[in-house]
This record gives sequence, C-alpha cells and structure tokens, in this order.
Amino acid sequence: MATAAGYPPALSRRSEISLNRICSPRFAAAVCLLTLGWLVAAASTGAAPRVRNVLIVSLDGFRPDGISLKRTPTLVRLLARGAGTLRARTVLPSVTLVGHTSMLTGVEPEVHGFTWNGETRLRPLRVPTIFKMAAREGLSCGMVVCKKRFFQLVSDGEETEILHPGWTAGKIVSVAIPYLKEKQPRLCLVHLTDADSSGHKHGFMSQEYLKALTRTDQELGRLLKGLDAAGMADDTLVIVTADHGGKGKRHGRGIDEDVLIPWIVSGPGVKRRHSIDRDVSVKDTAATALWVLGLPVPDRMTGRPVIEAFAK
Ligand SMILES: [Zn+2]
Repeated sequence: MATAAGYPPALSRRSEISLNRICSPRFAAAVCLLTLGWLVAAASTGAAPRVRNVLIVSLDGFRPDGISLKRTPTLVRLLARGAGTLRARTVLPSVTLVGHTSMLTGVEPEVHGFTWNGETRLRPLRVPTIFKMAAREGLSCGMVVCKKRFFQLVSDGEETEILHPGWTAGKIVSVAIPYLKEKQPRLCLVHLTDADSSGHKHGFMSQEYLKALTRTDQELGRLLKGLDAAGMADDTLVIVTADHGGKGKRHGRGIDEDVLIPWIVSGPGVKRRHSIDRDVSVKDTAATALWVLGLPVPDRMTGRPVIEAFAK
C-alpha cells in the first residue's frame, strides 16, 4: 500500500541497485545508511492500514462540548473503540460550505476558493475534492447530504453520486443505509444537520439543541448498524467530524465555540481509547482518507494524515 507523498521517501530496490553500481563503495555505503535512515523514518510514521472504504460522517454545527455518555452514547462508544480529539478546528469563516470544502479538499479556503455559503457556485473549485481524486482512480464515491449547497462540490461529468433526500438526520440515514448496502461505496460522505438547524432556531447549547445532539447521535448509531448490515464494518474507516460549532444563534466567527469541532476515527488499524494530542484540522480529514485508501496525498494539501491515531 502506498504511503503518503511528502513522507520520508524510500529508495526503490531498482534505484538502490543502480546507485550501488555507479558509485564508489564509500559513497554506496553512505547511500545505504541514508536509505536505512529513510526506511527507519518511514517505519516510525507507519504504513497506512489496509482499509477498503472510508465513511466520513459530518455532523453540521455539532459542538464537541455537547458530547457526553448520557447525551451521545454512540459518539462516546466510538471514542472508546477508536481515537479522537474534541479540540479539532475548522477553517474560517466557520460556515458550512467553506468548512466542508476544506474537509474534502484538504486546503485552506483561500486555496480552494469556495469562500461563500450560498447555494450558487460563484467560482469553480480551484482544487479537486478527494471524491474527484478517488473517482479518477476508479473508486466508487457517493454523498448523502442535507443541504443543496453540496452540489457545488461535485463538478459536471464527475462520477460521484450525490443524494439529497431531505433535511432531517432520520431521512438521510434511511436513504444512506440502503445506499451503502447496494452501492458499497469506497468513499462516502453522510451529512447530518439537525444540530445546526436547532442551533440557529433555539441557540447553540440550548435544551432544544442538546436534544438535537441526542437525535443525531441516535441516527449515527443507526447508520453504523447499517454499515455493519451492509457487510462493510470490518474494512471501513469511519471518520466523524463537523464543519463548525456555534454560539448564540449563529456561527462563522473565529471564537472557540464556533471553530472547535470533534474529530473521531474508528476502524481497521485505529488505536483504541486513544486521545489524539496533536492539533487536528478539519483539513486533515481529506488527507487521512486518501492515506488509508492508498492514494497519494498531494503536496498542495496542508491537511495531513492523522497518523498518530493508527497503531504502528
Ligand atoms: Zn449553520
């Protein structure tokens, strides 16, 4: 399985042999030592685990400080089964389209160019999403989303399937479960927005908002059972994160309440009960997905694979 581009390169056997042939013994020995150093470095970053599929579940407007055993048992179980941080950060402005575009391209908004939050595409996307990149490699890709603005992320003629069956988590999950079973997508995004809707209506962290977190968590649990029933659970990496948080009845600012998001990963090769110490960005979602799928992580991506979450 390929390792991420930009990580210590290992000389191929062929280049090692040809170098040995053309160089002096002393130089060749130095090259061997260098190669050994690279190999040791590569081993310490760890090869990507063998994962067939990646399922990204984005919980729109879901504040990580709303997570608790009583309120969101599915998320707490995922944290216990996998690795995560409740102090990951989204990009600015902390709004849906901008955050999701960074989540799915691995770059800052000034690089991808989607700096608005409406339903009309004002400019073309400047870099491909991981869906476009994976589809190009022949992987089946699909999104089941609550908001029409996601259609801007799929360009004309692109293979990625995008479904918008409604607004509520219940509707989305009821469509996502048979979709997973039938299509067995290699890369899939499921987007649930009940938390965000409730935050705008009743206030983030209000009683109604907290109830929406529970509802979302229950639907996430149903989705994960659906993944299991589709026969995909054993070889699917699940990443659960969010595009932003919120305070009062809004978001979009640089304050912690708006930018802190959960980032939780579970599946093959993931450490159990592991708290990720490093800074994690919403952009790391894209890089991690490519890395575990064995696809190259482009140098332009400032998001990096969250290698720390995986057992060596
Ligand atoms: Zn919102």
